[in-house]
Amino acid sequence: MNFASTRNLDHCIGLSQALALGLAPDGGLFVPSTLPSFQPSDFNADHTLAAVACRLLRPFFADDALSGQLDAICDEALDIPAPLTALKPEHTWMLELFHGPTAAFKDFGARFLAACLQRLHPPDQAPLTILVATSGDTGAAVAQAFHRKRNLRVVVLYPDGRVSPRQAHQLGCFGDNILTLRVAGNFDDCQRLAKQAFGDPHLHSRLSLSSANSISLGRLLPQMSYYAYASISHWRSRGGKLNFVIPTGNLGNALAAILARRCGLPIGDIALATNANRVLPDYFSGSAYQPTASLATLANAMDVGAPSNFERLRWLYPDEQALRGGFIAEAVEDASIREVIANGEARYGRMFCPHTACAVRVLERIRDRGDSRHWAVVATAHPAKFEQVVEPLVGHSVEVPAALAALLDRPSKAEPIGADFEPFRERLRKL
Ligand SMILES: *Cc1c(COP(=O)(O)O)cnc(C)c1O
Repeated sequence: MNFASTRNLDHCIGLSQALALGLAPDGGLFVPSTLPSFQPSDFNADHTLAAVACRLLRPFFADDALSGQLDAICDEALDIPAPLTALKPEHTWMLELFHGPTAAFKDFGARFLAACLQRLHPPDQAPLTILVATSGDTGAAVAQAFHRKRNLRVVVLYPDGRVSPRQAHQLGCFGDNILTLRVAGNFDDCQRLAKQAFGDPHLHSRLSLSSANSISLGRLLPQMSYYAYASISHWRSRGGKLNFVIPTGNLGNALAAILARRCGLPIGDIALATNANRVLPDYFSGSAYQPTASLATLANAMDVGAPSNFERLRWLYPDEQALRGGFIAEAVEDASIREVIANGEARYGRMFCPHTACAVRVLERIRDRGDSRHWAVVATAHPAKFEQVVEPLVGHSVEVPAALAALLDRPSKAEPIGADFEPFRERLRKL
């Protein structure tokens, strides 16, 4: 299959090249030139997540140098449980995407991308440098996925003081081929620095730069697999489509669900749950698309004022009316996030991370409007990652999953850096 930039659909390149580039040279995002079409019966009943991914992604890898290695890539990267568990009341489910090594859904995409890039980058060439701006969880997932991978290195930029202490610890706990920079600014500053570096020809000639942000195809494609896996298992056991409510920031996770639905998987409605950053809810309720600076909220991994995957949504829906009519999109304020977390155990028998709490609240509103269909809340992180928010609200400590505990036991270190490009550029030149 070929891939083109959202800004020039006529010029196609192969998957390997698109994976290595990250962002298209014209500043657009890579999108597939065609989409395959599946039926639920194309997947075996006993398929694991890795096997579903393999079947689903095979057409995207067709004719590419990596196609012969797709099985191995899926087995290596997607060996993470993604259970669909029941919540109260009936017809309510939770797709648990927090069982990976850094306890957030980004492990799926980051590990898949790392497995691809390691196979693509020849060991005898200068190292490939992955630049990643993170509002919290991406950086840790990417650092974990690339840690000690030969001939690959990662530079993580995160907004100092705007991630939880445990997130900060995770971001700095790797060392070796991972450089962690804490930026005196917000997430948009981090993204701008990364973009400026990509646009700097001198840096490009010194370092082979690549990205691992949620714009990367290597993250987007594998994320489709858990939606496929969950919707097919729902289809088999209960018949009918599964609707999803998805905590949304840069639209990477939600876009994977939308793509999976377009490929014929039994997915019904998709609701986007944002925090107080309401650029998407405003757009879907009829305003012009108006990117802004991001607001700091309790669901910090979704503190996004300019969702980077929006261009892909526009590509999928060239008709603006169809796009605006195609989704529920609602914002959830911090006060509601707190309320959902505080009542989670009594109402649902669960603890939620602040991001997942946004989705829970949006589903509560959907239920209040009389919708009794099957909905799955997508749980994007483990509550133990955000203990400073969650523990005071639930009134007790949250048990830390073993993989996360292992990371928190390591020493951690991040270099401070300003939000201007020049010092960042100098730091990269010294790599
Ligand atoms: C990154 C992240 C999100 C937002 O995902 P997008 O793909 O940016 O929309 C939601 N929840 C958690 C826990 C995250 O880490």
